[in-house]
Amino acid sequence: AGSAERDAAALIARRDRAFAEVQEHYYDAPPRIERGWREHLVGTDGRVYLDMVNNVTPLGHGHPKLAAAVAKQLRTLNTNSRFNYGAVVEFSERLAELLPDPLDTVFLVNSGSEATDLALRVALAATGRRDVVSILEAYHGWTYGSDAVSTSIADNPNALATRPDWVHVLDAPNPFRGLHRGTDAARYAPEAARRIRELAASGRLPAAFIAETFSGNAGGIPLPDGYLAEVYAAVRETGGLAIADEVQAGYGRLGEWFWGFEQQGVVPDIVAVAKAAGNGYPLGAVITTRQIAARFRTQGYFFSSTGGSPASSVAGLAVLDAFRDEGLQRNAAEVGAHLKGRLQELATRHPLIGAVHGLGLYLGVEFVRDRETLEPASEETRAICDRLLALGIVMQPTGDHQNVLKTKPPLCIDRASADFFVDTLDRVLAEGW
Ligand code: PMP
Repeated sequence: AGSAERDAAALIARRDRAFAEVQEHYYDAPPRIERGWREHLVGTDGRVYLDMVNNVTPLGHGHPKLAAAVAKQLRTLNTNSRFNYGAVVEFSERLAELLPDPLDTVFLVNSGSEATDLALRVALAATGRRDVVSILEAYHGWTYGSDAVSTSIADNPNALATRPDWVHVLDAPNPFRGLHRGTDAARYAPEAARRIRELAASGRLPAAFIAETFSGNAGGIPLPDGYLAEVYAAVRETGGLAIADEVQAGYGRLGEWFWGFEQQGVVPDIVAVAKAAGNGYPLGAVITTRQIAARFRTQGYFFSSTGGSPASSVAGLAVLDAFRDEGLQRNAAEVGAHLKGRLQELATRHPLIGAVHGLGLYLGVEFVRDRETLEPASEETRAICDRLLALGIVMQPTGDHQNVLKTKPPLCIDRASADFFVDTLDRVLAEGW
């Protein structure tokens, strides 16, 4: 092994000693990454990788205006959000402006887990109830509440056995595999609505239904048409609230829609955002109605020392400026459509590709051993990701079967990079990885 490889391995060994075992890392022998620029990452050996997986950085890595704005703010003032400064107000106003009425009231936090957890607490407070409905194959975070409604068995084989009794789990509305495939996918929504009504009739009135508005963690799969409209209606009929987890799907990634819920033609009662909001700088938010937010008082009080700090708020504003000025959402639509078209063409030549899911720059290339049985090609997916790394592309498996390429690059990715990814994947599939 060369010195850069030894250096990378030594760092991993130190990391393993310092971290709890549960904290995984990408790849058995990951390169040591030193810097990033746009959709590229650079290792300590000078190798450049195309980052096809990083939805934490929609603006791209090393964004100069974001870096300059945060650096300036850190030199000037950084403190908690109880002080009176402009950026926290300006960011909250601009975030709320991006949401439809009546979503106008903002809570600022530091991460997606905090945002979904707070969304649940707001719903519990507003309804005075304790039961929550979630769906299979979902991930919402690691805190007690957000983890409770996370059902994905990809990283936690015990997920379903260990849900608290206040969590009620619906089938994953997966139109490709699962209970109802293809045209039968229209059956997921009425069945979910029936389960919610039955739950209410049994006395477990739901405080909320929580779901991603596009099945990100399940493989980059859009929900069946009309799914959220029907399920939101059912939960509201029982007096519960609709929580949209936009941590992954929101902020323009779906191309045509800034928010995932727009793609479904609904308006949620509570929205959780994070990841893209700070382009990697810790920032998350919950946006709801004034009326629902007011009920939070019944539960106690809300304050986050660093949520909405001057530096976080400035990061949030710089990200929104970049979305306004740099055509990121349009690029997600255009490069995303080009990328999806090319991947679909690959599927006509490589039988391992069972489907190309997704919208905009949230795509999922699902590998199957058999297109009839849909047997997941999980080991193959892992081997393909390893081979892609050797050829200069960072890519990871996702989904409960870990057989989907989690294709969600920075939104600034250009066509040449998208083509490089497809050409390299074509080569890997042809070689037999
Ligand atoms: N919700 C969704 C849909 C997510 O994908 C994630 C993170 N993968 C979270 C919530 C939690 O976000 P964080 O890691 O910032 O706590």
